[in-house]
Amino acid sequence: MSNTDDFKRYICKVCGYIYDEARGDPDSGLAPGTRFEDIPDDWYCPDCNVTKADFTALEPRAAEPDTTAVASVWSGPEGGNDPDAIVIIGGGMAGWALAESLRERDPHRTIRLITADSGDYYSKPRLSNAIQREVAPADLVEETGPARAARLRIELMPFLRVLDVQRERKRVITPRGGIAYGQLVLATGARPRQLAFAGGAEAPLVVNSLDDYRRLRVALEAGAAAPERTRVAIIGAGLVGCELADDLSAGGYPVALVERAPGPLSGLLPSLLAEDLRAALEACGVQWHTGATVERIEMSEQGCRRLSLAGGDTIEAEVVISALGLVPNRALAERIGLACHQGIEVDAFLGTTDPAIHALGDGCEFDGRLRPYVETLRGQAAALARTLSGEPTAYQPDAGIVQVKTSSLPLNVRPPQQSDAGAGEWVEIVGDGTGRHLEYYARGRVAGFALSGVHARGVRELERRLGQPASASDEHRHRLAS
Ligand SMILES: Cc1cc2nc3c(=O)[nH]c(=O)nc-3n(C[C@H](O)[C@H](O)[C@H](O)COP(=O)(O)OP(=O)(O)OC[C@H]3O[C@@H](n4cnc5c(N)ncnc54)[C@H](O)[C@@H]3O)c2cc1C
Repeated sequence: MSNTDDFKRYICKVCGYIYDEARGDPDSGLAPGTRFEDIPDDWYCPDCNVTKADFTALEPRAAEPDTTAVASVWSGPEGGNDPDAIVIIGGGMAGWALAESLRERDPHRTIRLITADSGDYYSKPRLSNAIQREVAPADLVEETGPARAARLRIELMPFLRVLDVQRERKRVITPRGGIAYGQLVLATGARPRQLAFAGGAEAPLVVNSLDDYRRLRVALEAGAAAPERTRVAIIGAGLVGCELADDLSAGGYPVALVERAPGPLSGLLPSLLAEDLRAALEACGVQWHTGATVERIEMSEQGCRRLSLAGGDTIEAEVVISALGLVPNRALAERIGLACHQGIEVDAFLGTTDPAIHALGDGCEFDGRLRPYVETLRGQAAALARTLSGEPTAYQPDAGIVQVKTSSLPLNVRPPQQSDAGAGEWVEIVGDGTGRHLEYYARGRVAGFALSGVHARGVRELERRLGQPASASDEHRHRLAS
C-alpha cells in the first residue's frame, strides 16, 4: 500500500509539465497514485511528447509553508541592503529556475527575487493547452510564490516593478525603495507584440501569463453561452496561435485563424508539415484565413467583434486573441545603458556589458539569437548558478528543438541553423497515416529534422543524430519534401 505522504512530483525538463504521483495522469490511463517508476516506458509527456528520461524529480513541497512563507515575503527596504545579495528581477520560469539552482549550490547566500506579478509558480507552456482540459487558473499554480520562497529560503518581493538600476551604487530602484545587490540578474522575460487596430473595439486578448489566461477564461465564459456559440478569432498562426486554435477547437469553440503568411508556422516548418498542420486544424473545425491581414476591429450591432480583413472579407467573433509573437522586455536594460539588440545581449557566461549584471530567459539574446524556450532557460539557469557561485561556467546552448503542442498533430522540429539553411535539402524518411519523419541533410550530415504525429516521440533519438552522417538511402532521397 502506498503512503500518500511520500508521493513525489517530477517535472518535464522540456516544457515544465509536472507529473504528480498523487494525481496520476488519467488522460493517458495513469490512475492517481501511480508511481513514476511504474509508468510504462512508452508513456510520453502529455504536453510535449518527450519520454520519461526527460523528467527529473522535484523537491518535496513544504508540508506547511504558510508561517515561514509569510516571513520570507519582503515587506520593505530596511532588510534590503546586503551588499552581497543576488537580486533577480523577474518571477517567471527563468527567475525561479535560477533561484532554485542557486539555492541548491549555496545554502547561505542572500537571494532576493523582485517581480511585478504575484510570483506564483506555474508552467507557462500549459497556458496554451489548458482550455480543452477545463483547467481553472488556480489549478495551474504549482506552488504559490510565498510557499516557493519559503522552500528555497529566499526573499520574494511580489507586485513590485523595478523602475531603475543605479549601476555605480549597485542599487535597484523600486516604488518601495532601493535594494542593494552584489550581483543582479535580469530575468525580465518578454511581452506579446500588440498591434493597434483601427475600428474602436478594445484591444484583443493575449495569452502570455496566468492573468492573461484568467481574462481569456472570463471572456470565453461571458454570457454563459455554450462553447459552440462563442466564436473565437485568433490573429497569428505562429506557435502560440496554432496551439490556442488547437486547444480552443478541441474545447468546442468555433475558431477562425488569420495569418499573413501563406501557412502556419512559416519559417519553422517545412512546407509539407505546414500543410499537414493546416489540414489537421481544419479537420478540427478551424477556419483558415491565410495570406490575410486584419485592418479593423469594431463592435457590431449584435455586440460581437467584427474583424475586417484587407481585401474585404469579414469575421465575426465574441472573443478576439492576438498571437503575434513576443518582444523581449529590454527597456530597463536599455535605460541603464546595457548593450541590447533584439534582446539583452549576453556573452558565453550570460554576462551583460556590466560585469555585475547577468541576464537569462526570454529577455536575453545569446549568440545573436532569441531562444524563448523552457529547455533554454533551464540550461541557462544551471550554468548561471554555477557562475554566480564562483565557478565560471559557459552556457552550452541546447539543440534548439521546438515542440508544437497541437494535439491534432503534435510536432517536434529542429530547424537547420542559419549556416545550414539553404545548403541542404529536406528528405522524407516516413510519411504515412501516423505522421511524418523528415530529416534535413546539409553537407552530408543531419542538420535538422521535423517529426509529426507518433514520430514526434522519436525526438531524442533524432537529437542524438544531429551532426551525424546522413543515412537515408538514394531511394529515400527521391522522396524529397518540398
Ligand atoms: C502560450 C505559451 C506557450 C508556450 N509553450 C512553450 C512550449 O511548449 N515549450 C517551450 O519550451 N516554451 C514554451 N513557451 C515559452 C516559455 O513559456 C517561455 O520561454 C518561458 O516561460 C519564459 O520565461 P521567462 O521567465 O524568461 O519570462 P516571463 O515568463 O516573461 O517572466 C518575466 C518576469 O519578469 C517580470 N518583470 C519584467 N519586468 C519587470 C520589472 N521591471 N520589474 C519586476 N519584474 C519584472 C514579469 O512580471 C515576469 O514575472 C510558451 C509560451 C507561451 C506564452
